[in-house]
Amino acid sequence: MFNDQIKVEAIINGEEVKAERYEARENPTHPERVAGYAPINTREDAVRAIDAAHTAFASWTKVAIEERIERMERAIQNIKAAAPDIAELLSREHGKPLYDAEGEIGVSLAWMEFACQNAKDVLQNEMREDENGKTIIAHDGIGVVSAITPWNYPLSLSTIKIAPALLAGNTIVLKPSPLAPLAVSKVVEMIAAEFPNGVLNLVHGEADVGVELTTNPKVAKIAFTGGTGTAKHIMKAAADTIKNMTLELGGNDAAIILNDFDVNDERAMRRLVISNFLTAGQICMIAKRIYVDRSIYEQFVEKYIEAANKWIRVGDPFNKDVTIGPVNNKKQAEFVQSLIDDATAKGATAVKLGRVVDEDVFEKGYFLQPTVVLGADYHDPIVVEEQFGPTVPILPFDGDEHAIELANDSIYGLTSSVWGEEEHAIEVAKQIQAGTTMINTAAVQGLDVRFPFGGVKQSGIGREYGREGLLAYTDTHIINIPKKGELPYIPE
Ligand code: NAD
Repeated sequence: MFNDQIKVEAIINGEEVKAERYEARENPTHPERVAGYAPINTREDAVRAIDAAHTAFASWTKVAIEERIERMERAIQNIKAAAPDIAELLSREHGKPLYDAEGEIGVSLAWMEFACQNAKDVLQNEMREDENGKTIIAHDGIGVVSAITPWNYPLSLSTIKIAPALLAGNTIVLKPSPLAPLAVSKVVEMIAAEFPNGVLNLVHGEADVGVELTTNPKVAKIAFTGGTGTAKHIMKAAADTIKNMTLELGGNDAAIILNDFDVNDERAMRRLVISNFLTAGQICMIAKRIYVDRSIYEQFVEKYIEAANKWIRVGDPFNKDVTIGPVNNKKQAEFVQSLIDDATAKGATAVKLGRVVDEDVFEKGYFLQPTVVLGADYHDPIVVEEQFGPTVPILPFDGDEHAIELANDSIYGLTSSVWGEEEHAIEVAKQIQAGTTMINTAAVQGLDVRFPFGGVKQSGIGREYGREGLLAYTDTHIINIPKKGELPYIPE
């Protein structure tokens, strides 16, 4: 068990490195308490980590795929053995309920296992031969990967990068968010222990460390998950050295409720509520705006509120009865509240959902009682911005074309969902601009690590998960052995 005196460290070239400064990570449920301590590393630390990764790459990339897989499988066993302690630490520093933290570990392990099972097949060299000659299609490791991750799903969004990058023969410097640095450090420690020194490095810190990770010429690829605004800085920072990039960014995912959706289907309604409020709404792929066919709008709202009141129980993440914990940090809680206040000041109604089961922590921690916002305008900030918190607007639409237009009227295109009779829903889904569209489910309930995940428009570039998520950490290297070695149109 990790107590609240836990102090995590940077890992550079296989060694824990002490920092000059450490910061207490506050416990969002009890802000007067500490969840543990993480270092504030410097740019110099980042340079040392990149140098170590750069040196390690030369030999690591030559290691046979079988050995890489074996090492990753041992790392998986280490994480499984420590899973209960890691889940507890994650709940304490993040604020997500224990079941949710356990779920995050489960998704991380499912992906790591999928990556191990498929690495050999996906990453092996292909050989083609025909009358023109032979071609070897090799999938080479790219080099040093800077992995930069956010606070909302620190474990799964780190392992989503670590597993494929290492299996494909790259080395890594990972920087987690200072807002949830503890549990991920323990996981990285357990993985790094199974790999040669310098293959997996960890540094903590703020944007200055991030800037080093995105500008250093020895870094070949950036794998970033975080806000779209931060990604714009990163793209500019990386431009001078033309780095390979995978960007998983913000979303403002629409849920479209068609006229043939059965509002009396309690299970479907609960799935939708969970799609809006799991992890207190702090998920990139949560359904963040609900559009309902006007013909069923009134009944829908009534049944939605009924279902939400049943499922939502707000309180201490360690209380087994609780489904929703606090918001991760004060700034985020204030931002979400400001969107609600803006909408209600303009005439919308915010209806509180569920019940507070732990009044004492609710008053002191960064809690917001979940709300549904009715009567907002299509272009209000609560509708067009990514709230990333426990609130969701419900708006009516007039006909499927209108719903598609509203859903697509966004700079984002991460996921989306369509709810109704299956064939009808699929027809609408085909017209939505998004990386994933789910039918009669949404958010993590429809996530499948076997298939590629990522966004269109300003929600990102590239894909994680699936075979594509492994290939994303490779450069294709063609070795051509033409039979004739000359082209017919070039004169003698
Ligand atoms: P953020 O962009 O503020 O921070 C992400 C990471 O970038 C942190 O580690 C941060 O320290 C680092 N960083 C900050 N400035 C930097 C800079 N100039 N250069 C390099 N690194 C820098 O995001 P956040 O608030 O931690 O996370 C929330 C956001 O992440 C939301 O927008 C959410 O939608 C998005 N997100 C996307 C996905 C996805 O898969 N598409 C998944 C989870 C979260």
